[in-house]
Amino acid sequence: TFFGIGFDIHRLIKNKKLYLAGVRIPFHSGLKGHSDGDVILHAIIDAILGALRKKDIGTYFPNTKRYKDIRSPKMLKPIIENLYKSNYFINNLDINLICEQPKVSKYRDKIIRSISNLLDIDKNVINLKGKTVEKLGLIGKEKAIACEVITSISKYD
Ligand code: ZN
Repeated sequence: TFFGIGFDIHRLIKNKKLYLAGVRIPFHSGLKGHSDGDVILHAIIDAILGALRKKDIGTYFPNTKRYKDIRSPKMLKPIIENLYKSNYFINNLDINLICEQPKVSKYRDKIIRSISNLLDIDKNVINLKGKTVEKLGLIGKEKAIACEVITSISKYD
């Protein structure tokens, strides 16, 4: 069994759509980034790469023209394929979404369903927690959203 940790943060900017775990969320701003800025999927990718001991998301998706405006489910796909080809399965995935708004409770089911589909894992092994920051700093002022993920993977015998 191996554990992996992932962290990501993106700025919120106007005139961009907000995607969290591949789900389009109605909001006043979207996440700035070379890709769609999906903090949840990026943190999941880094957690899985960590558990696989295979470096980080930037190694596979550098900020080059080739990956400009890439959708994050597309980034996740080869990482997941690599995980399953290497005979691993995911034991669990625990997620902290750190933001003042949107309210996680409102979108929890949708987000978990999307992660379950994208990773081809049971919903019961996924947990999503919403954390606010008492209106402090960039996240508290709704200028950024951050995400932490921890995962555990095991190899089939
Ligand atoms: Zn990111």
